[in-house]
Amino acid sequence: MQRLTDLLARSERVVGFTGAGVSTESGIPDFRSPGGVWSRYDPSEFTFGRYAASPEVRARSWLMRREFFATPFEPNPAHHAFAALERAGRCLGVVTQNIDGLHQRAGSRTVVELHGTATEVMCIGHAPVHGTPDGCGFHETHAWAMARVDAGDPDPACPSCGGIVKSATVSFEQVLFPGVVEAAYDLASRCDLMVAAGSSLQVYPAAGLPEVALGHGARLVIVNDEPTPLDSVATLVVRGKAGATLGPAVEEVLS
Ligand code: NAD
Repeated sequence: MQRLTDLLARSERVVGFTGAGVSTESGIPDFRSPGGVWSRYDPSEFTFGRYAASPEVRARSWLMRREFFATPFEPNPAHHAFAALERAGRCLGVVTQNIDGLHQRAGSRTVVELHGTATEVMCIGHAPVHGTPDGCGFHETHAWAMARVDAGDPDPACPSCGGIVKSATVSFEQVLFPGVVEAAYDLASRCDLMVAAGSSLQVYPAAGLPEVALGHGARLVIVNDEPTPLDSVATLVVRGKAGATLGPAVEEVLS
């Protein structure tokens, strides 16, 4: 903990890189948590191609989304830690693989959401191909879609063009949204300390971000409760809970 605090205190351009593990202390399970939503739904069922092709898959996907948001959840000390560093002018922003919107709710302003957001839905067109949404531009809140599902429509269509509506997340087989990877790599190349928290660092291109930061001379701290493939190149590895470690460390640095 002392080395974590020292590294944070010496850094002026921190960038957070977060995965599902940063939100488990908020009560949102990662893919491997026993009893979590993913033990009842197979995420590989919801590929972009299957979603676009099948009203049944879409109906099931909305039920899964309802379950994802069923228990109210709040940002935890890890989300607040990055937001506090940014407010203090010591953090350039956060790149996250998460879709839960918790970094923004904690007060972070620069948040690059690699996998989109589950807090919004969007039109993806009538027959999108090659994993690329081809919608009319319609965007609404997640609550809009849930209200329609609750009203008896298991697969709500776009009210503007009649196209397929989908959570504004990036599914398996789906192309990342334009500009997102560039924004993430830009932050990674400008930081002096990257704090990778709650990510297994296994999925590329996201897992390449710490390597970009290292390649530009930044230090790398990994906070995770299990080993990652990048532990051997990190400046410091903290084997523990993201909120329980980052929260007190940032509080000490800013006090
Ligand atoms: P992942 O591959 O990033 O793995 C999460 C890592 O965090 C694991 O190594 C786990 O051991 C670790 N971890 C769990 N709780 C932790 C804690 N409190 N402190 C420190 N480390 C902790 O993520 P995944 O679960 O395989 O999910 C893959 C993708 O699915 C994510 O990148 C995301 O796009 C999506 N997803 C998002 C959410 C969310 O938005 N909250 C939740 C589940 C899955």
